[in-house]
Amino acid sequence: MKETIKVKNPATGEMVEEIAVTPEADVEKILSQGNEAFKTWAGVNAHERAALLKEWAEKVKNETENLAEIMTLESGKPLKESLGEVAYAVSYIEWYAEEAKRVYGRIVPSHTETKRLVVTKEPIGLVAAITPWNFPAAMMTRKAGPALAAGCTFVVKPSEETPLTTMRLVELAHEAGIPKEAVQYVNGYGEDIGPVFTRSGLVRKITFTGSTPVGKSLMKDSADTMKHISMELGGHAPLIVAEDADIEFAVEQTLASKFRNAGQTCICANRVIVHEAVVDKFSEQLVSRVKQLKVGNGLDKTVDIGPVINVDGYTKIQNQIEDALKKGARLLSGHQYDKNDEKGYYFVQPTVLDNVEEKMNIMQEETFGPIIPITTFRENKEAVEMANNTPFGLAAYFFTNDYRTGIYFQEHLKFGILGWNDGAPSAAHVPFGGMKESGMGREGGLEGIEPYVETKYMSIGGIQ
Ligand code: NAD
Repeated sequence: MKETIKVKNPATGEMVEEIAVTPEADVEKILSQGNEAFKTWAGVNAHERAALLKEWAEKVKNETENLAEIMTLESGKPLKESLGEVAYAVSYIEWYAEEAKRVYGRIVPSHTETKRLVVTKEPIGLVAAITPWNFPAAMMTRKAGPALAAGCTFVVKPSEETPLTTMRLVELAHEAGIPKEAVQYVNGYGEDIGPVFTRSGLVRKITFTGSTPVGKSLMKDSADTMKHISMELGGHAPLIVAEDADIEFAVEQTLASKFRNAGQTCICANRVIVHEAVVDKFSEQLVSRVKQLKVGNGLDKTVDIGPVINVDGYTKIQNQIEDALKKGARLLSGHQYDKNDEKGYYFVQPTVLDNVEEKMNIMQEETFGPIIPITTFRENKEAVEMANNTPFGLAAYFFTNDYRTGIYFQEHLKFGILGWNDGAPSAAHVPFGGMKESGMGREGGLEGIEPYVETKYMSIGGIQ
């Protein structure tokens, strides 16, 4: 087990900070403290929990600039996006501060005069969370917000690429008055910390955001202790542009969906499927806009696209582009790289490819980079078949002003999140999550607190 993590700036390869890995014995101790703290935190009344969460949200808001800078330094994300992510992270804390007051039970009408039937909800217990590097703030608060609101205690292991944002968020929660043992972090590499979480009988729930293979292995390892599970996994979003779509608007929304965080998001448009009658117009407008995007160090406020996270991400992107070109795709723009293996930074120019076919890796594997592959369709049915032809089912987008076409897509696309004429559908007050191998459970909205509560039923008998 390595003893430290060197957090590096993906834009320069320079070290931002070296932090200690939490030794296994300390992870166990933190889990045990979290389990003890549950006994009191669960008993704090919902209004008080809500007030503490609101205070946490205020503290995070007041530190937006600092958190955004930390995030850009460790993740490479452009500063303007980091500022947006802090606001997005706050929105989850605020939403669940309110939802804390609405974890309702119910009285069920009885089948006999001698009984009363009561259903209550109670917090699950200690929750262990594992989060990814691409949204180091929002993926943490989207879990910690509802967990703490429900009365659960919470331990998070952030990605080893981006632990600093999470560490500061936890400190701010403590400064807001949330008890120290109720929300804690541990640092370490996934393959070391994951098993400590999964085998612990104290952890009653694992909530994970990350890649599908890791999600599957966490699920298997959680079976022995029958933990509750929430999985937010990979995606491979299709974006369909129908014949009647407003092309200029579809182009703008495609850019918004695709290039956030240099295309390293689970819901970004990865497969652009355009009606053959409008593909030339769409591609022409898209390429002209893509050429205006500025790639560089995210600390520069004029930069639109930062570096990719690391050499593995870069290599996957490069392989996908080269595989597509070898199999007959046409390069419309991009495909230049600025990399430095010695220093360890990797930039990719936003790249547009057309003549893309389903046999290409870029259509089969999750893409985590600034590439837009374009393919065409004739009939809506064909577009839906292509879109659904993936093990993933997280997000899908479609652009049409014809309500019949829109409803057809809504009813036939097998994805948990749809954007109809909308490239940015997510928000704290709506459910987020995937079908098929994109995961199980939902975060956000009314649905997002349910995974942190158990249902308890009581029958009161002997009533005269
Ligand atoms: P990853 O699966 O490599 O890592 C995610 C987290 O899991 C990290 O904290 C890592 O340390 C940990 N981990 C790695 N191996 C582990 C193991 N064997 N046991 C336990 N934990 C382990 O994913 P990533 O590269 O950090 O993030 C990108 C992935 O996350 C993409 O697939 C993306 O689609 C997905 N993602 C999904 C959502 C969503 O809401 N569905 C949101 C953001 C990212």
